[in-house]
Amino acid sequence: MRAAVFSALASFDRPASAYDVTDAVSAAQGRRVAANSVYRILDLFVARNVATRVESANAYIANAHPECMHDCIFLVCDTCGGATHIDDDVLSKRIRETAESKGFRAEKPVIEVRGRCARCAADA
Ligand SMILES: [Zn+2]
Ligand SMILES: [Zn+2]
Repeated sequence: MRAAVFSALASFDRPASAYDVTDAVSAAQGRRVAANSVYRILDLFVARNVATRVESANAYIANAHPECMHDCIFLVCDTCGGATHIDDDVLSKRIRETAESKGFRAEKPVIEVRGRCARCAADA
């Protein structure tokens, strides 16, 4: 089941909701799988850094670099739904330090930028 969920997630070229992934796994297996178990597996993937949650899109994306533990930054396109992943450790460290200067213990900064990707901006 985990392998089926991962290959379904990896088949999307943009962040996929748990329902999108459930539909893809169901289609691949020729039977309806439970959304709850897909949710549990996606959360497990996030905990193990195999997938990343794109919070503002309420969706998941396969992790391009599971071996490193960045605070990933996503540029989320409101037109096509695509997400471009960038890393900027200087920026994320600055956010962590600013939070800590307020006595806030940062667990995970969520840095997402909504807007239009280069392709969609060029189409408009
Ligand atoms: Zn990253
Ligand atoms: Zn776009």
